[in-house]
Amino acid sequence: MAVVIVEDLHKRYGDNHAVRGLSLTVEEGEVFAIVGPNGAGKTTTVEILEGHRRPSSGRVEVAGFDPATGGRAFRERIGIVLQECGIEERFSVRELVTLHAGLYPSPRGIDEVIALVGLTGKADERTKTLSGGQRRRLDLALGLIGDPDVLFLDEPTTGFDPSARRQAWDVVAGLCEVGKTVILTTHYMEEAYRLADRVAVVAAGELVALGTPDELVDRVAGGRVVIEFRLPPDVDVSRLPPVVGDLQADGHVVVVETVSPTGDLAVLTRWAVVHDVEFEQLRLRHGSFEEAYLDLIGAATRSGDG
Ligand code: ATP
Repeated sequence: MAVVIVEDLHKRYGDNHAVRGLSLTVEEGEVFAIVGPNGAGKTTTVEILEGHRRPSSGRVEVAGFDPATGGRAFRERIGIVLQECGIEERFSVRELVTLHAGLYPSPRGIDEVIALVGLTGKADERTKTLSGGQRRRLDLALGLIGDPDVLFLDEPTTGFDPSARRQAWDVVAGLCEVGKTVILTTHYMEEAYRLADRVAVVAAGELVALGTPDELVDRVAGGRVVIEFRLPPDVDVSRLPPVVGDLQADGHVVVVETVSPTGDLAVLTRWAVVHDVEFEQLRLRHGSFEEAYLDLIGAATRSGDG
């Protein structure tokens, strides 16, 4: 069942046509990521879905409501976790979560939500003693306490250390197990790749691509594989034999993107053996989601220029 429906959405700020005919649907229980470069129209789109901005034209439905007119009944069905939430510092974690719970008709359990975001050990600490990452978890708890159907997460792990980021990903993955629909905006492609069931790539207000992260990688990279290695300092890259793939060198680090990995690897390694050259850190990998994303928005920007 579609929980979010966007049909031919447009938003103009004066002459700036920020969102240009966006259409997408998000199914119940999905984690749906919206990614794109700065100024692509992500925040504008999400704020329209949250009911904080009015569209110039087009249709938007969230949890069965028109966000622009849904009022309090609509707001009780959604949770919003913004990048920078002001947190009341004089309360403990449990007190603050309890206060917010009082704003909703049927909130989730206080201790359950605190546990879900991994703050049980801090429940009785004043919020001003929390670290940046712990504050973001508290933000997440406040977004969840009303037991929303749709949770909006804006850059949820900006400023997190790598281990806190992984913990936050586990929390978000856990939300899906309790049936929440999550709309995520992020600039971390690994985050979109790990968390999202589907990703919308937007650039200059238009949808550039929509699919599962693996579909997008396949669509862009096709059967492309990357061969990487480092040449010894005394071997110049110009000595390497010709290959089918696209060979790029950055100093002595060589990267070959190829649709013929078996053949190209054979050509390169045969040459290396004959010339007694050791390829250091030789490895073979598939294109990453980040590379696919950069290709997609690069192509969109180029076609926008022409
Ligand atoms: P970022 O990744 O930098 O957060 P974004 O994809 O969220 O970018 P938006 O904030 O939606 O992009 O902005 C899209 C376009 O709309 C930009 O050109 C921006 O300058 C413009 N814009 C956004 N908000 C307003 C506003 N309140 N008034 C006028 N123009 C705006």
